[in-house]
Amino acid sequence: MADAFNLTGRTALVTGASQGLGAGFAVTLAAAGAKVALAARQAGKLAELQKTIEDAGGTAHAVAMDVTDAASVRAAFDDAEAALGPVDVLVNNAGIAIPKPFLEVTEADWDAVVDTNLKGCFLAGQEAARRMSQHGGGSIINISSVLGQQVIGQLASYCASKAGLIHLTKAMGLELARVGVRVNAICPGYIETPMNSEFFHSPAGEKLVKGIAQRRLGQADDLDGALLLLASDASRYMTGTVVTVDGGFLLG
Ligand code: NDP
Repeated sequence: MADAFNLTGRTALVTGASQGLGAGFAVTLAAAGAKVALAARQAGKLAELQKTIEDAGGTAHAVAMDVTDAASVRAAFDDAEAALGPVDVLVNNAGIAIPKPFLEVTEADWDAVVDTNLKGCFLAGQEAARRMSQHGGGSIINISSVLGQQVIGQLASYCASKAGLIHLTKAMGLELARVGVRVNAICPGYIETPMNSEFFHSPAGEKLVKGIAQRRLGQADDLDGALLLLASDASRYMTGTVVTVDGGFLLG
């Protein structure tokens, strides 16, 4: 059964791979044997990550992608598949948050968050599914959030987009099963990354950690088990599911 988690011979594409969780997902998938397409807008950071993965003996290829733009998404898939072969696994990870009190959220704030977090997963998910259905199927993993299941203040657009992504996951899972494409979501809890570390070590952040049952922040590699499960044949009978990895945060 341990072999079911092996990704040798598979090609994965990770959006938002230039930093944070996406970069970690790419390294983990490469270590499990996958060839990994690294997609985001910051080419310099992707080139550095490609080198890191190659230096460790893995295979990676950087592709420019803006997930809010259908033509950019299509071109990035073309580039990735020309370099690495047909994509078997898509990790829809790119995401942004613009924290603001609800009454101060502008239309532009709303559009930026929803276009990246929800429309971006639709565009990349549809592009991937069309291609996967032509070559025997695949696995799409949408990175939602515990905030798609429970709201907190100042993040209305983020919470709404991540809740929408959970329903999109189920709708895609239902429709795409017949073409061999599985679609599942991971809802991470509070995971420490270089971008949010300062907040989590502030008084407000420390208070928040006290609300996590396990009394600690998650680290990026706490998500590896769920990622490898959903990317691999180990989850062959799972579709439309939501895997929450939050140290018990949602337990209250
Ligand atoms: P970061 O801000 O560190 O990274 C976000 C990534 O998304 C970057 O690589 C960025 O790349 C990419 N991105 C943003 N906009 C676009 C776009 N338009 N097109 C392509 N790529 C884009 O975030 P995290 O690593 O913390 O979070 C990653 C995902 O995990 C997000 O979806 C987030 O909502 C989710 N999540 C994170 C949690 C956490 O605690 N960290 C908890 C729950 C969920 P570039 O700028 O180069 O395009």
